[in-house]
Amino acid sequence: MMTLSAPSISETVKQMTRGSERFTVPTPPQFDDNQAQRQYEKQRLAAAFRVFAHYGFDEGLAGHITQRDCIEPDTFWVNPLAIHFSQIKASDLVRVDHQGNIVEGHHPINNAAFAIHSRIHHARPDVNAVAHAHTTFGRAFSALGQTLQPISQDACMFYQNHSVFDTFTGVVAELSEGDMIADALQGNMAVILQNHGLLTVGTSVDAAAANFVMLDSCCHSQLIAQSAGELNVISHEVAMQTRAMNANELVTWGNFQPMYQLMVAKDDSFLS
Ligand SMILES: [Zn+2]
Repeated sequence: MMTLSAPSISETVKQMTRGSERFTVPTPPQFDDNQAQRQYEKQRLAAAFRVFAHYGFDEGLAGHITQRDCIEPDTFWVNPLAIHFSQIKASDLVRVDHQGNIVEGHHPINNAAFAIHSRIHHARPDVNAVAHAHTTFGRAFSALGQTLQPISQDACMFYQNHSVFDTFTGVVAELSEGDMIADALQGNMAVILQNHGLLTVGTSVDAAAANFVMLDSCCHSQLIAQSAGELNVISHEVAMQTRAMNANELVTWGNFQPMYQLMVAKDDSFLS
């Protein structure tokens, strides 16, 4: 199984930047204090909802992003039911265990969020965050029952790194359906839920959210290209080389940092 392994950060920084010997390149923080890490990760999760709202990924009660708790890793943080993504604060988040018990927080949660995300968190110890939403382009592309083609540099990050879950049987309510989605995901970064939407994972919520934004954007690009004509696809070898560069842990984490900065600049109330 391919998993989201961590290549050397210093090696990646050296390969992908110039000036890193003189200037600081942003990298994921390290924590000595579990409580400080938990608060930081809750703030990043709340920011991810603001990012989803910014891109128009909110859709009524649908959509959820989860973050594995760093202190009790068989529990995870999730959005409260029926609060608009643009209004979610770190203090609104709810912590739930893998049996479905709410262990922290003051709101109910979406049952599908629990059924899907708990099984992925359980099946993929390398994954710390999972993002799912029903976006316009994700829904449209999912109806084709196809995987994305490597038609651009960006699409290469999903090359042989995502799958299609083709069994739509209604709104996900059972843990067994969450298990089937986790099986379809395998060791990949994303799964297209046919007739439903998109789902991405990451070693951090930063990565899972940024991967989701990119996946939705790649679905949009392919829909446009396919409707205009024949696709010229990137060769297997080049697609794999490109993926090694743009799907690595540091880059996927890094993709979120400009989005985070924008959310702080717009309205930093999510931090509280
Ligand atoms: Zn859904």
